[in-house]
Amino acid sequence: MRLVVLGGGESGVGTAILGKKKGYDVFVSDFGKIKENYKEVLLINEIAWEEQVHTEELILNADVVMKSPGISDNSPIVKKLKEKGISVISEIEFAAPYTEATIIGITGSNGKTTTTMLTHHLLKAAGLNVGLGGNIGKSFAWQVADNKYDLYVLELSSFQLDGIENFKPHIAIITNISPDHLDRYNYKYENYIDAKFRITMNQTQEDYLIYDADDEAISEWFKTHTTKAKLIPFSLTKTFNEGAYIQNNKMEIKINQEEYTMDTEYIALEGKHNMKNAMAATSVAKLMQIRKATIRESLSNFQGVEHRLEKVLKIQNVQYINDSKATNVNATFFALDSMNAPTVWIVGGVDKGNDYNELMSLVREKVKAIICLGVDNKKVIDVFGNVVDIMIEVSSMDDAVRMAQRLTEKGDAVLLSPACASFDLFENYEDRGNQFKQAVKNL
Ligand code: ADP
Repeated sequence: MRLVVLGGGESGVGTAILGKKKGYDVFVSDFGKIKENYKEVLLINEIAWEEQVHTEELILNADVVMKSPGISDNSPIVKKLKEKGISVISEIEFAAPYTEATIIGITGSNGKTTTTMLTHHLLKAAGLNVGLGGNIGKSFAWQVADNKYDLYVLELSSFQLDGIENFKPHIAIITNISPDHLDRYNYKYENYIDAKFRITMNQTQEDYLIYDADDEAISEWFKTHTTKAKLIPFSLTKTFNEGAYIQNNKMEIKINQEEYTMDTEYIALEGKHNMKNAMAATSVAKLMQIRKATIRESLSNFQGVEHRLEKVLKIQNVQYINDSKATNVNATFFALDSMNAPTVWIVGGVDKGNDYNELMSLVREKVKAIICLGVDNKKVIDVFGNVVDIMIEVSSMDDAVRMAQRLTEKGDAVLLSPACASFDLFENYEDRGNQFKQAVKNL
């Protein structure tokens, strides 16, 4: 059997290693460059590869093709493969049959990483032999090849889910859905929503789907579709006989006739969105029958993930917060919502079709000044120019932070929550967040 892997990154190389171990004739083809460390791994494992080219004779003879999530379905090589009827799948689809481990799959537009890390933290604290993978860290396929874990918590993008046929997580979470990556879905929001719901398409009555019952797109989907999985909704406003909700500043989880209650003030993560993430992760912990004391301790000591509403420093009683990972309006909505102090807001970058009006009432209420940090800030200025008195354009992070300091007084906050991708001025969101933190430290 010939396995062709398109893309020689983390998931591609992981798949190649697993394929080799399972006896496939493996070939890796990357249209870009393959990183040196991955080349070494391929060499050591005697796996054939090519870079900066897709040689059709070596690809179109595949029995099965694993496509990395970064490669679009519209790329010429993928189209050719599909025309020939060759199955093109994702890493999780390829790897899952080779493990007996229980799989918890987490998807959504925002909150995947936070919920995945928190879920992993809860299960690990309970002493389970649990791996972490998907879009985070070491690839799932690679870990399956090493065969180390009894269960996995996987962060799954819509691109990973596009390439599944039989994959089914025992527990699935959809954190929320808002428009994102529409360029890969023919600019049709419903295609993107359907991609997210693929996470449940193979689930049975034995499986669970945990989802945000406050989410409009999710509620709409349920009006015309069903799943066999047992449903566990979570909500900030509704209550359930079976599900998770917040009432009187308490998080209540009711699952399988059992109940878990915790004062939200003891949950270390802050912000409404993080209460949702905590409800989702705790629902998994309950399904896995983790002890209450362990859940309580884990939720009270989980400090969150870098670049997600990360508190950097307090300088002259001004709190600086790094939310560089907020690359869309929905993420920034929850960041602004969680602010309790007058805020200088640093926003801007590459806008993926944002509707900033969704932020209008929060901006009126909380924002004292806006610093635009992008190459083209016209849209932000047009929307908020009449709402916020002070509006300044800068073109470097140093300038943004220095300007923010000048505009603040004791008790204020400075929030970097760009609502945009970072590629105009930065390498990626991590670079943007790190530059912010460095600039704050330099003040
Ligand atoms: P993802 O992996 O889906 O991109 P992250 O956990 O990395 O999600 O968070 C991305 C951004 O979204 C951050 O700015 C974070 O503060 C915000 N965020 C986290 N959880 C949620 C949520 N449940 N709803 C909306 N925004 C969220």
